[in-house]
Amino acid sequence: MTTSYDAIVIGAGHNGLVTACYLAKAGKQVLVLERYHEVGGAAITEEIHPGFRVSVASYSCSLLSTKVIEELRLSEYGFAVYPKSPSYFMPFPDGEYIFLNASSREETKQQIARFSERDAKAYDAWEDFWDRSCDIIEPTLHQPPPTMGELAQRFEEAGLADDFRRVMLLSTTDLLNEFFESEYVKAVMAPQSLIGTAGGPMTPGTPYVWLFHAIGRAIGKRGVWGYVRGGMGGITQALAKAGRDLGVTIRTSHRLPKCWWKMGRHAVWCSKMARRYAAALCSRMPTRSAPSSSCALLAPCPPTSANTLSATTAVLARCTS
Ligand SMILES: Cc1cc2nc3c(=O)[nH]c(=O)nc-3n(C[C@H](O)[C@H](O)[C@H](O)COP(=O)(O)OP(=O)(O)OC[C@H]3O[C@@H](n4cnc5c(N)ncnc54)[C@H](O)[C@@H]3O)c2cc1C
Repeated sequence: MTTSYDAIVIGAGHNGLVTACYLAKAGKQVLVLERYHEVGGAAITEEIHPGFRVSVASYSCSLLSTKVIEELRLSEYGFAVYPKSPSYFMPFPDGEYIFLNASSREETKQQIARFSERDAKAYDAWEDFWDRSCDIIEPTLHQPPPTMGELAQRFEEAGLADDFRRVMLLSTTDLLNEFFESEYVKAVMAPQSLIGTAGGPMTPGTPYVWLFHAIGRAIGKRGVWGYVRGGMGGITQALAKAGRDLGVTIRTSHRLPKCWWKMGRHAVWCSKMARRYAAALCSRMPTRSAPSSSCALLAPCPPTSANTLSATTAVLARCTS
């Protein structure tokens, strides 16, 4: 059994597990420590009543990268996703309603035309705008995050400076007003800009959140979201299986307590257990320096999906200090 590691990943959410898998693929000895009794983090399926297994936190998938799914062969480990159809339904107090279908622009336009012919036509321009913006942002998901200035430059070089203004600077209300006239249509579009934010439709910058809902590819098709077979735990169980096959050691019910993470060059260790793990890491190092001066905290993890990275997922790796 391995007693020393090249990298210790703290937290077995999907980001930690993907990171562990890629490190293992690169030939590293990897240990994943998870405080809960099960892997998954917020992408987890649990039995909440005998016989009823549900996604207890996150519930739908799109942003898990196709590249990651393929490279880690997640389908072979049980991962499967069913596209949401319709993708969105909004009922209104007056009995009206709208269905959106991300897989069919024509169906969505027909729904919108019930409220405004003009908006149905504008929907083409709306979708084209998001497609153009996604074309710029999507490649960055597999790159070190660009600065805001670099991002602006990419839009500008593509002749899309006005799209940058729309995505980054406008509020959702302002953006929707540029495209649509019907309050029903604007109401059905707005929530995707606001999920997971502490903002409202008038908060500048919220269209960027819309972009992330437009960018995912649940079934390989941009903008389509889906339900994972077996709930969201289907993702992390597949990742854990893939990881174990790659040689990753996963220990659940293992909390790494009282570590104080310095987000700079060094991790500072504050607990006996942390020191023990640090010693395991450092036993592989060609250096005699103390763990606190020779283990770097690489944080945050490499982005593996467009999701916000959890502050609790961290990778400790050996380094030369
Ligand atoms: C209620 C809710 C609904 C959401 N819905 C969606 C959705 O439908 N679709 C979507 O794409 N995204 C959704 N999200 C966002 C998405 O779930 C998260 O962005 C994603 O799970 C983050 O993954 P992660 O691996 O970075 O962190 P997490 O999933 O948070 O995993 C971190 C792990 O670290 C462990 N940990 C923490 N501290 C320690 C420690 N000291 N020692 C050991 N282990 C530790 C935790 O137990 C946890 O398992 C939702 C989030 C929430 C909270």
